Amino acid sequence: MHAMFMRTLAIALVLLSGLTACTRGGDALDDILSSGELRVATRNSPTTYFTGREGPTGFEYSLAELLAEELGVELKVKTAFSLNELFELLRRGDVDLAAAGLTLTDERAMQFPYTIPYLQLEPQVVYVAGNHRPRNIDDLLGRQVVVLADSSHAEFLRGLQQTSYPQLEWQEIDTADTMVLLEMLDTGEAELAIIDSNEFDAQQSLYSRVKTGFKLGVEQDMVWYLQPGADNASLQAYVEDFFARLRADGTLERLQELQFGHTTGFSRISSHTFNLNMRNTLPRYKELIKQVAEEYQLDWQLLAAIAYQESHWDPLATSPTGVRGMMMLTQPTAKELGIKNRLDPLQSLRGGARYLKNLRRRLPKGIREPDRTWFALAAYNIGLGHLEDARVLTQRQGGDPNRWEHVRERLPLLQKSAHYKNTRYGYARGVEAATYVRNIRHYQNILNWQDIADNKPLPPIRIDDYLPAMLQGTKLSAL
Ligand code: GLU
Repeated sequence: MHAMFMRTLAIALVLLSGLTACTRGGDALDDILSSGELRVATRNSPTTYFTGREGPTGFEYSLAELLAEELGVELKVKTAFSLNELFELLRRGDVDLAAAGLTLTDERAMQFPYTIPYLQLEPQVVYVAGNHRPRNIDDLLGRQVVVLADSSHAEFLRGLQQTSYPQLEWQEIDTADTMVLLEMLDTGEAELAIIDSNEFDAQQSLYSRVKTGFKLGVEQDMVWYLQPGADNASLQAYVEDFFARLRADGTLERLQELQFGHTTGFSRISSHTFNLNMRNTLPRYKELIKQVAEEYQLDWQLLAAIAYQESHWDPLATSPTGVRGMMMLTQPTAKELGIKNRLDPLQSLRGGARYLKNLRRRLPKGIREPDRTWFALAAYNIGLGHLEDARVLTQRQGGDPNRWEHVRERLPLLQKSAHYKNTRYGYARGVEAATYVRNIRHYQNILNWQDIADNKPLPPIRIDDYLPAMLQGTKLSAL
């Protein structure tokens, strides 16, 4: 009886799902609204979509999530493991949009409807430091060049080959993850790779030997692609209006800053030193840092990043000005925090964590996370008084004193007499404070990335890997 009931239920469910599937195929925007689902194809990469400590995140994911929220529907993400698969999902009508850091190219434009651009990026040719640096297209000849299969870069190389460089050769790697390309450079399997600037900036910290050889000309437009041959003009118009609004109200800039802001302008040497220390020194203190982070409900990667910026994880660090220990506390601060021995890493970490939390609590209410943490870090370095001065300067100049990127820009003014003479606390080393926060965010980012890279989902095993050689390439349906 029970089994029969279950079967009837299963059949009813199949019929029902058939019905919902049938509701697709009309006006795409109406279909999204009536089905309650926005289906987006993307790829797993630090600049598009990945699982962070607080769940799914990434630039494209955040944008798609905002759109779904606005439409009042649920976001369904499909991850493609190659660019071809991504476009295949669109062709088959399995998704409404592809949002994956995709460049607008001539070939794609002929096949798929696309939106107005929401981001501009410059592709670059990267190589391993110490090898011959490529400076122009001629330097690609005779070297092992890799790009993502079916990428805009592959299309670009094809164009060059057909017009002016018939002898140009390259290898297309069938993945949607640019980290694979950097890995190939790192292990010596390839010499040069072409990759978008933001992808490179985000991942360079993990492959600190890889450098930019040259930039490939102009900035290129990133767009979202839509299903070909579908009734999706109103969806396209809606997304374009959505992008225009996000640009006008500063959301786009803010998301960019949040997702990519910590990666730019960082020296390769310091990334490299950080990587070495992360492998050699951090393991000794990791558990201690995690313990204290938990006690104070802080992110352990944040606490670890501060400790690195302060002392390179050296519990005996001492500066000429008398700050000491892993968190480099001054004598008065340590006393205020009830710390007896600043050279004891546990005490030092606890002191630093408590100090940071105090500062964060004392900041004005209007400052929201994540900016609130950046402000607290700046205060850790420069003091609340000077930080407040920088906020006043920001407001005077028409900026928003509650936004980190606006205040960060004004911090250097605290070193210019024309500006600091009109502040309450006067001269302060504002450049240092801005750099301090930038470094910590960068280190935190590397630590997060290391964690994510260690726990990354692998692409599904291809059926070919299981089939005997003579059957490989056979379609499953033909078996
Ligand atoms: N933007 C590239 C494309 O549209 C993908 C990312 C990359 O290869 O760096 O194909």
